[in-house]
Amino acid sequence: MAVGRVGILGLQGDFARHRASLEALGVEAPPVRLAADLEGLDALVLPGGESTTMLTLIEAYGLRAPLAAFLQSRPVMGTCAGLILLGRGSEWLPAPPFGALDVTVERNAYGRQVDSFAADVEAPVVGGRFHAVFIRAPRISGIGAGVEVIARRLPGTGGTPEGEPVAVRQRRVVGLCFHPELTGDLRFHRWFLAEVAGLAGIASGDSRPAPSPMAALSRDRS
Ligand code: GLN
Repeated sequence: MAVGRVGILGLQGDFARHRASLEALGVEAPPVRLAADLEGLDALVLPGGESTTMLTLIEAYGLRAPLAAFLQSRPVMGTCAGLILLGRGSEWLPAPPFGALDVTVERNAYGRQVDSFAADVEAPVVGGRFHAVFIRAPRISGIGAGVEVIARRLPGTGGTPEGEPVAVRQRRVVGLCFHPELTGDLRFHRWFLAEVAGLAGIASGDSRPAPSPMAALSRDRS
């Protein structure tokens, strides 16, 4: 039996890969497309994809108010475009982001799709090094006082000398610049479910069969 029900915003983007990671950890992971889909969820994942498209579709599907209400009280993890949606400001968005995380985010900060890359980051919350896939990734450019940095690029691999922040947490809201669902390493999903969402009985085992990150990187060279 599933140990929880964690929705994934399913309007656009790589929600299917998140679903595979969440289901491997024993939770039910239905897509969320309508306000009614938010009912009864223990937590929510906002996937990567294209934040401008997602925000346009959120308005079109009447999801803004129900999502805003959910974000006020429930655990949420946003990855890449999902982080942009959770932040309090980015450039060139068709509608305001939700401001559930007190961070400003610079979209496409590392360049175009062809400049996407994978790199190890240091993430003590998941036990140390984590191989992270950055696809036309955003950069966290401003961090409010109540926000904790939970992962940094390794010093000497770009960004600030002490390691650029690439993941943040503000109580029950988590935002990552990268895509943990693309490597088959389940540690970030497990940590979010167990430590942030407080779900008991999450399955053990830190990996699922890995899709090829290189296939993901080369899929759509826009
Ligand atoms: N560049 C995309 C955006 O601005 C994010 C890319 C991603 O989610 N991989 O929304």
